[in-house]
Parts: sequence; C-alpha cells; structure tokens
Amino acid sequence: MAFNPLNWLMGLFSLDIGIDLGTANTLVNVRGKGIVINEPSWVTIDKRTRRPLAIGAQAKEMVGRTPANVIAIRPLRDGVISEFDITQAMLGYFIGRAHQQSIVPLPRPRVVIGIPSGATQVEKRAVYDAAMAAGAREAYLIEEPRAAALGAGLPVSEIRGSMVVDIGGGTTEVAVISMGGIVVSRSLRVAGDELDQDIVQYIRNKYNLFIGERMAEQVKVIIGSAFPMPTEKTMVVRGRNLVTGLPEAIEISSVEMRDAISTSVQVIIETIKDALDEVPPEIVSDLIDTGICLAGGGAMLQGMAERLSDELKLRVWLAEDPMTCVARGAGLVLEDLDRYSEFLVDLDRTQSRG
Ligand code: ADP
Ligand code: MG
Repeated sequence: MAFNPLNWLMGLFSLDIGIDLGTANTLVNVRGKGIVINEPSWVTIDKRTRRPLAIGAQAKEMVGRTPANVIAIRPLRDGVISEFDITQAMLGYFIGRAHQQSIVPLPRPRVVIGIPSGATQVEKRAVYDAAMAAGAREAYLIEEPRAAALGAGLPVSEIRGSMVVDIGGGTTEVAVISMGGIVVSRSLRVAGDELDQDIVQYIRNKYNLFIGERMAEQVKVIIGSAFPMPTEKTMVVRGRNLVTGLPEAIEISSVEMRDAISTSVQVIIETIKDALDEVPPEIVSDLIDTGICLAGGGAMLQGMAERLSDELKLRVWLAEDPMTCVARGAGLVLEDLDRYSEFLVDLDRTQSRG
C-alpha cells in the first residue's frame, strides 16, 4: 500500500471501529475506548412500512410483547443475512451511535466487521455495502472464527496450530488455524438459540406448559448444563398451560434441562469431532499441547468445557470474556491492518483500501 499523507492524517483523527455482527448480539469496539456498545441484534419494525421502530436492547425488550402492527426481527438469526435492509439499518444505527459519542466532529470511520464464516459471497458483499452505506470510510470483513481466535489471544500467526470453537446464538463456528490460515473449519446452524427452542419443546411436551423464548433462555443460563453438576438445581418457570389456557408456574430441574438440550449439545460435539477428523496429524499433535479454546456466549453453558474435554480427550478451556472475543479480535486487526491483511475477506478486490 503506497503512503498517502491524506489518509495518514485522517487516520490520526478518525475513529476505528471493530464490530462483531453476531446473530444474537452486536458489539462495537472503538479503538482507544474499548467496547462501547453491546446490544442484542434485534430490530422491531412497522409491519406495513418496514420502518425500524427500535434497535438493540430496546427492541429485544419488546420481543413477545409486540402489538399486531409491529414485528420483532433478528436479521442475522441463522448466521445469514436474511433481511438485508434491516441488517443495514441496524449496522448504520450502531456505527452512527459509536461515531456520535465523540465530542468533536470526526471524519467517517474505518470499520472491521466480523461476520459468520458460513456467509455467502453475496451476503458478505451485502454487509460491506451496508457498512459503506452506513457511513464508513473504509470497511473490511473478517470471518468470525479468525477474529475470535485473535481476540482470545491464540497464536494464530505461528506455525503451531490452534483450535477455536465459537458457540454463538445462531451458529457454532469451528476453526483450526495455523500460520494465519484456516486449515479446517465447520459452520453449524445449531448453537445457543437451538437450546432455547429445545427447552420450550421439552416443557411443552412434558408439562403442557408453553413458555416464551426469553424465559427459556433464562432457564438455560441459570440451570442449563452439558455435564452433571456438583449440586443439581431447580427453578420455577412460568407460562401458559396448553390444556386449561391459564397461567401456570412449575418447578423444573437441571437434570431435566440437561436431558432437554442433550441432542443439540451432541450435534455440536459431533461437528467438532468431525472437524478434528480432518486435521492433519502434525496439527493434531499441536492441539494435544494447546487444547481447544471456547468462545461465544453459548460456550458459557455450565459444564460445556468439561463435557467437551471428556468426549474429545483434549484440554478444553473457556476464553477470557468469551462473548467479546470477536469484537476484541476485530479491534486488534484495526490496530495493524497491514499485518492482518491476510485475515480479511477478499471481496474480489472491490474492497476499498483507502
Ligand atoms: P452471537 O455471536 O451469535 O451474537 P453470542 O456469542 O453473543 O452470539 O452468544 C449468544 C448466545 O449465548 C445466546 O444463545 C445466549 O443465550 C447464550 N448465552 C449467554 N450467556 C450464557 C450462559 N451463561 N450460559 C449459556 N448460554 C449463554
Ligand atoms: Mg459471535
């Protein structure tokens, strides 16, 4: 890249923003400030005009309580950008908010966005366009597992191989990285959300009780587990009895909930095993030393690391602050775009490089 004094000057004053455009949560990491936004990837829109009414935390608050003319959308739900215009509105809103937080007027920001690795070329292009439309001066994309690995502090540029499993809301991303490149990867559309659905189903089938998605998520976080707990727990859930139609509260146990989510947890484990099967022996031997790093909110499920370690016979450890790995990794890329250029998604050389 040739030296451009104007760019250099802009760089001194402009904002650098790393964004984790997650299926469940969007995080915005401003260089020099840290993570300034961490909100659910939810948008509520007017059904008729499709105009966004609320974005982020405010929108999630409305979920399950919206009147008929309002719909709540998670535009990235399954790791794909199913609702392009809504994704664009959301991205624009978050970039705008990060940008406005400065007191002096600034040039337009540079952004690095982490996107699910399963995204198609068209979807990647769409996110890039959305960022540019939202006011970015330059936009770069990075596949989430790479950003997660960087944010988790894995030695991604070394010859030694490392493995990261990022369990988010909509997708689980598995990647083995060596010398900056992805050696083996898997992207699975089973992650935290699926576990919530499993809990809704289980309670409906066993108790004829219909509970909301948000209640199910709370159950998962409080008493959900992937491995027997030292002391099993119980909690009370509230919903609507499907026979009487009336509100009802029942007590459920962590043992039941482990059973409820076991199939999905097993699917995640099988995907990791499947990826491991494909890893070349030299790197397998590295992994015996380095283990597997878990990132993403779904990885915080109680007993997940123990369960994986038990099944895979490898050391499995949770990254520090697992939900912010991608945002922190995107921030690291911004600090040295040249060094990490190989990490960025190549959009047919159509990306602006300033
Ligand atoms: P994404 O990257 O897809 O936006 P996140 O990494 O933000 O996803 O993780 C969101 C998922 O993590 C949700 O399914 C949420 O329920 C789950 N989660 C968050 N905290 C916990 C926890 N303590 N235990 C289990 N699951 C959790
Ligand atoms: Mg994520």
